This record gives sequence, C-alpha cells and structure tokens, in this order.
Amino acid sequence: AVLSNGSSDSSFKMPEIKFTKLFINGEFVDSVSGKTFETIDPRTGEVIARVAEGDKEDVDLAVKAARQAFDHGPWPRLSGSERGRIMMKFADLIDENLEELAVLEAIDAGKLFSLAKVIDIPGAGETLRYYAGAADKIRGEVLKMSRQLQGYTLREPIGVVGHIIPWNFPTSMFFMKVSPALAAGCTMLVKPAEQTPLTALYYAHLAKLAGIPDGVLNVVTGFGPTAGAAIASHMDIDKVSFTGSTDVGRLVMQAAAASNLKSVSLELGGKSPLLIFDDADVDTAADLALFGLLFNKGEICVASSRVYVQEGIYDEFVKKVVEKAKTWVVGDPFDPAVRQGPQVNKKQFDRILSYIEHGKREGATLLTGGKPVGDKGYYIEPTIFTDVKEDMLIAKDEIFGPVMSLMKFKTIEEGIKRANDTRYGLAAGIVTKDLNIANTVSRSIRAGIIWINCYLAFDKDCPYGGCKMSGFGRDCGLEAVYKFLHIKSVVTPIYDSPW
Ligand code: ADP
Repeated sequence: AVLSNGSSDSSFKMPEIKFTKLFINGEFVDSVSGKTFETIDPRTGEVIARVAEGDKEDVDLAVKAARQAFDHGPWPRLSGSERGRIMMKFADLIDENLEELAVLEAIDAGKLFSLAKVIDIPGAGETLRYYAGAADKIRGEVLKMSRQLQGYTLREPIGVVGHIIPWNFPTSMFFMKVSPALAAGCTMLVKPAEQTPLTALYYAHLAKLAGIPDGVLNVVTGFGPTAGAAIASHMDIDKVSFTGSTDVGRLVMQAAAASNLKSVSLELGGKSPLLIFDDADVDTAADLALFGLLFNKGEICVASSRVYVQEGIYDEFVKKVVEKAKTWVVGDPFDPAVRQGPQVNKKQFDRILSYIEHGKREGATLLTGGKPVGDKGYYIEPTIFTDVKEDMLIAKDEIFGPVMSLMKFKTIEEGIKRANDTRYGLAAGIVTKDLNIANTVSRSIRAGIIWINCYLAFDKDCPYGGCKMSGFGRDCGLEAVYKFLHIKSVVTPIYDSPW
C-alpha cells in the first residue's frame, strides 16, 4: 500500500463537540451515575471527547419517556402525512449541517471525509424522505372470509422500539433503523456503538429542532454489556432491532426471549463470496474485488472477503489484483487521494493483525500486505491470501478488515458449493457476461442480496438483511416499515348476508 503523506492534516481543524450527553425526553442530560467515557480518534489514538455513559437506569428513563410518548403522546396518533412532513424537515436540517456532520463521522469512525460528504450524510436525508413518503401509505387489507363474516386488517405501530447499532456506519445505520420506525408511528431509543457516539447525539438535537415530539426519539450512549443488554432484556420494550456481530445477536435474542418475548430483528455478520467466472474482464473484476473488500476498510458486514476465481483466468487475476492492492492509497481520511482510512480502534486493529498471523500459520500464502501502515493510528495494508481452504479460520470467520481470501474453482457447481460453504448468508457477488450463469448462481446461493456485475450497490429501496447465521429481518425498502408494524385483524359478523 502507498501511505498518504497526510498533507491535508495541516488545514484540518478539530470541530467543537457540541453534544456529549444522553438525549432523553427531549433534553440532553447527564447519566444517572454521572459517568462518562472517551471516544477516540482512530487517526491518532487521541481522545476526541468524553460522552455520558448510560446504563440500565438511563435506559429505564428513556423507555419511560418513549412509553409515555407512545401511549399518550401525539406521534402515533398523527396522520401519516403529518409525521412525514416532520421527517422531511428533519432531513432538511441534516442537509444544512452536512459539512459538520461529515467531519464528526470522519474523526469518530475513521471514515473517508470525501465519502461521508457525498454518501453517508446526504444518504441520511434521503432515507428519511423515502420513509416520510411511506408514512401515509401504511394500510391493511380486506379479508375474504366465509359468508357470515366480514373482516379487515389494520397495521398498527408495534410500540416502543430499542435500536442497537454498530460503529461501522454510525449515520447510515441510525437512519436505516430510525426512519421506518418513525414512519410507522413508533417511539424509540437508540443506543449507538460506544466507539462512535457523536453523530447520533447530533441527530437527536436536529430531531428536536424538526419538531419530533419529546420522548419519541431518545439516544442513550453507553456500552453493550450494560446499556445494550438493558435494552435487550427490558420488560417494556416491544421490539429490538439489532445490527452487529453474530455472537452479540445471539445474546440479544436470548435476553429478549428470557424477558418479555419482545420481537427481534437481527442483521449480523457475513463472510460473503464473490464469484468471478472465466468470461469476466479481469481488470474490472480485480477492481470490483478490491472495492467490495476495502470499501470502509473492510469494516462492512457484506465485504467480499472470499473471492473465488475460475481457473481459466486465475493466474492473470492474481497478478492484477496484487498490483492494484500494492498501489492502494491508505492514510488520513481527510486526504482526498486516500482510499482507505484507519480501522476504527486499537481492538479491531489488533484483532485483524492476529487473523493475518493466523492465516500465515494455517498455511495460506500471503500475496501482499499483512502489516500496519505508518507508525501512528490504526492503518493496515490491503492484505491478500491465496491457497486458502474453507476450513481455515481466515476463510470461516468474519475478520472485518482489509483481508481477502482468494480461491480457485473449476466448475459452476464447485463455485456454488464452496460459496455456500459458510455459516453466514448475507451477500454474494457474481461477475460474468453469461446470463445463464448469473441466473443459476443467483438462485443457488443462500444469501439476502446478490450483486451481479456490481458490488455494494445499496439503495434505500432495496431490502437488506441475511439468512442462516447472518440473522433475519430486513432493513431498507418497505419491508423495514412492516417490521415496525403489527397486524390487527378486525372481524364482524354479517347477519342475513345475501351471498
Ligand atoms: P462489533 O463486534 O462489530 O463491535 P458488536 O456486536 O459488539 O459489534 O456491537 C454492536 C452493538 O451491540 C454495539 O452498539 C454494542 O454496544 C452492542 N452490544 C455489545 N454487547 C451487547 C450485549 N451484550 N447486549 C446488547 N448489546 C450489545
């Protein structure tokens, strides 16, 4: 990898951090315990700010506010278009503060500033507007029942929702979860990841300015095993919507079952295969494989971390992909030339490096990368292993970093079989010009999304989620609104029906 010279650093001014307290019932408040925790800049390892550390008592207060707002407040009782109008205002306020939000996202999560400015932050407004437009289209169905009965269904908001979100896409995750729940008429609390609490608190402030009533959207910053666990096991939360690791997803589901049987949706880990067939353009395919892996420094649950290349083009592909990885620019996320910023924190950085060591010990061949970049911050070289077998740890586990397992296959059947040889089922990619291969493989791979001749092609309208141990339930699309609604059937008898 090429290390950026960090030339942009000199012009960079650290922003003032305006919001560091919990947001409960429309007010910024200290945690009950008075405790705070540090949020760190992954470019340098230095502290950006101290943020209120919420725990069970704070979750209780937030749930109380959300329950009051649900049972007695205006939000669920407004018409869909009234809710939509407020959500549109919320979206406009995000656009007005774009620059400042993009800086916060870059320093807290190590995201490329150039991308935060054109993708993450504007995407938040777009997601809100999409669901604002859905808010007045929520309706039930007329039932076809036996002759003496008449019935219909109502779709009603599910109630108080707890959203637990990860650190890799702090803004996108926040709005993927919050927007459909707001459209549905739910009230909620959000627990951002402890690594990246800053933008969520800013959004709470903007929600209030937009006119979202107090208690509808609460934000409790804090740690997983304390604040997160309190949400999962709360007796007065109706639904928990979780995105994060498979291990924690299992804990959340157990806690939900052991408490009040709240409804659960889980978007968990992945180990997504990208299959490149002999007829592919090798240069384009190598670009796609690197983009699919290295976007957001591999900190994305759908990363194309297992790349299967058909034997006819394998050698040529290896040459190309290694060449490209070697010139990939890693460095300060404020430098426009940089394509890969720092890993989110020291823990992830160490974890990725230990997987790389494991890969070497397991007998995989390291083609390129494998080391940190520079001597400060958490930068890692794009790393490619070949001679990888499906039973090696680096091929089985989600590494969540810039590490590719490159493998060779012969036939379509072999490619499908090996692609499916994983406990995960989140995403898959196919590169071919052959329509029959594309269709056959798309139908044969067990995953929530298949990208043909593209990768990471997301859209607010495209349902997103997994199967197998990648979880269940869908974010994005109208499906996401339905997950925050429950169906009530209403039945009346008809006496003396003429039919
Ligand atoms: P990652 O491994 O990507 O950090 P995690 O699954 O650990 O992902 O974290 C995702 C979210 O889940 C974060 O907001 C984190 O605080 C929260 N979390 C972690 N542990 C628990 C837990 N035991 N119960 C509920 N939430 C948790």
